[in-house]
Amino acid sequence: MTDTNLTAVLFQQNDLRMEDWPIPAPGPGQVLLEMQRVGICGSDVHFWTKGRVGDYVVKEPMALGHEASAVVSKLGQGVTSLNVGDRVAIEPGVPCRRCNHCKTGRYNLCRKVRFCATPPDHGNLGRYYVHDADFCFKLPDHVSFEEGALLEPLSVAVYATNRGNVKLGDTVLICGAGPIGLVCLLTAKAKGASQVCVTDLNASRLEMAKNLGAEFTVLVRREAPGVTAQAVEGALGDKADIAIECSGAPSSVNTAILSTQTAGVVVLVGVGHEKVEIPLLDAALREVDIRGVFRYANCYPTALAMVASGQVDVKPLVTHRFRLEDSLQAFEAARRGDGIKVMISCDRKA
Ligand code: NAD
Ligand code: ZN
Repeated sequence: MTDTNLTAVLFQQNDLRMEDWPIPAPGPGQVLLEMQRVGICGSDVHFWTKGRVGDYVVKEPMALGHEASAVVSKLGQGVTSLNVGDRVAIEPGVPCRRCNHCKTGRYNLCRKVRFCATPPDHGNLGRYYVHDADFCFKLPDHVSFEEGALLEPLSVAVYATNRGNVKLGDTVLICGAGPIGLVCLLTAKAKGASQVCVTDLNASRLEMAKNLGAEFTVLVRREAPGVTAQAVEGALGDKADIAIECSGAPSSVNTAILSTQTAGVVVLVGVGHEKVEIPLLDAALREVDIRGVFRYANCYPTALAMVASGQVDVKPLVTHRFRLEDSLQAFEAARRGDGIKVMISCDRKA
């Protein structure tokens, strides 16, 4: 065990620094983790460049990072589910466990959830980090630390496809081919979707979608949403049973609704604009259900099982790799939109 805890700390907007922090001690029910891999998410970049995401404002220095895997290095009092040396994926949001949402299993909606790198809670992009043991999931030997870190975005996809009730034979539209759209594509295919169509403004991202199994892609330009919807319908042969919106662009939300079958479901994963004008009557009178998504609940075990069994291969999503010391360069690459997923190695050996 090293005795320093190099950590990527966001002091305020555009002020990310590498700092040596004390190594924290695990409290009862917690474990000290020696961090291994941390993926950069759009929200980490957004906190860095804007100093806030919606109502969450960075007021105190905050460690970034929430897509992570680690090795258990110390057990807090009463921990029996894990051992020192266990390789784990970290589910970043720990809810209160007591409120109605927690008790009914929708703990993602808990108002007291502590979520890594959402102010005021620290993230885990550092050498060491403490987390509740029951939100750490043991990785089988053949599942890599990178795959462990990718269980975070994959859990968003498990949840989003559950919300959309994607099942065998369904046709699915995925709007946006960023990391989230792409894990939704992989998950929809794994759940038995017969045909998946993916849209994006970026041709290279659509190429990636094709390589990952999308039957169809539609390159979006500045045309009206109805025109894009026609292209989607032309590709699939009909409207999609389910649309999963993963861009947050208002025009794309419109395309998602217009492209969805009567009695189908639109799942809103992308966030961006507080108010969006949508064809509400079209959705209402065709009984197209519009469902929101806030992170995920109870999805890590499914995401892990999908990766461990080979039902999904998330490895191609990692296009850039950096060391913890070079986190600033990693964030620059993520901000430029280089590739798909930027991954940081936190262990000294890497
Ligand atoms: P990203 O920015 O990497 O990907 C978004 C993609 O959408 C880009 O490839 C972009 O080119 C594309 N796009 C933009 N406008 C478009 C349009 N009009 N039509 C089609 N495609 C368009 O982001 P990401 O990391 O993949 O995340 C996707 C979204 O999901 C973001 O809005 C993010 O904030 C959100 N998100 C939500 C949750 C949740 O719990 N609801 C969780 C994770 C991420
Ligand atoms: Zn709660």
